[in-house]
Amino acid sequence: MEKSKKIQKNGSISIPKDMRFETGFHSGTAVDIRSDGEKIVITPHAAACRFCASIEDIVFVDDCKLHICKSCANKIIKAVKTDD
Ligand SMILES: [Zn+2]
Repeated sequence: MEKSKKIQKNGSISIPKDMRFETGFHSGTAVDIRSDGEKIVITPHAAACRFCASIEDIVFVDDCKLHICKSCANKIIKAVKTDD
């Protein structure tokens, strides 16, 4: 599927409804935008660790409202763990 659109003065562009529906990019979906110098690619936002920016083994800690990787979580647990 390919369609032509004009970029607005403020840099915004609307994604056609049928493309959004086809790809699951619904209103409110967080996305990552990257450029390789020729193309701009939009992908669903990958949650990253708040501390090291890894996107591997991420868990969301609802009480703290943050994403953390299991490696950093284990380091924090180790740092606060007492020996008693
Ligand atoms: Zn981490």
